[in-house]
Amino acid sequence: MGTLTKQLARACDLTVIACSDFRHSIDAALLTRLQTVFGPHVTYDLISVPGACHRLVRQSPVHREIMLADLDMLVDLHQPETIVIVQHEECGRYQDVLTSVDRIQEQRILSDDIQVSEQILRQRFPNLTVLGFIARMDGQHLYDLDKVWNGGAVGNPEPPATTRVRSGH
Ligand SMILES: [Zn+2]
Repeated sequence: MGTLTKQLARACDLTVIACSDFRHSIDAALLTRLQTVFGPHVTYDLISVPGACHRLVRQSPVHREIMLADLDMLVDLHQPETIVIVQHEECGRYQDVLTSVDRIQEQRILSDDIQVSEQILRQRFPNLTVLGFIARMDGQHLYDLDKVWNGGAVGNPEPPATTRVRSGH
């Protein structure tokens, strides 16, 4: 980093990887839910791409590296302590795999991709916490975030299930 970049750099709490789906920004839905989970003053950099971690696990190694390079830059610049992955229901980028599956199968596909992504990110950023969430969608609105527990992690006491994080309404 050059001197100017160092002067401009400030810390933020999170780097968030989320889908570019417009419903995340209606009524600041994603921001509001992140504030519910991480506190009202949470600050974050946002990597917004179609399908969120779809780019890490379902596309080419080149796509994966591009996203990791973006993360390298943001982590270096703003030193977050946590990377947050937000997948969402009814994601158009997953159309090919989510067509004709029910909600339970959809949950499993999204959770599996989150857990693979968490492994990739923990390898790349061993000093950072990586958390995964599934955004609940109700047609036109994102109405909640569910935490996805990584039940396979050694020493992780959390059960391999999702737990509802209430949004307050
Ligand atoms: Zn999407």
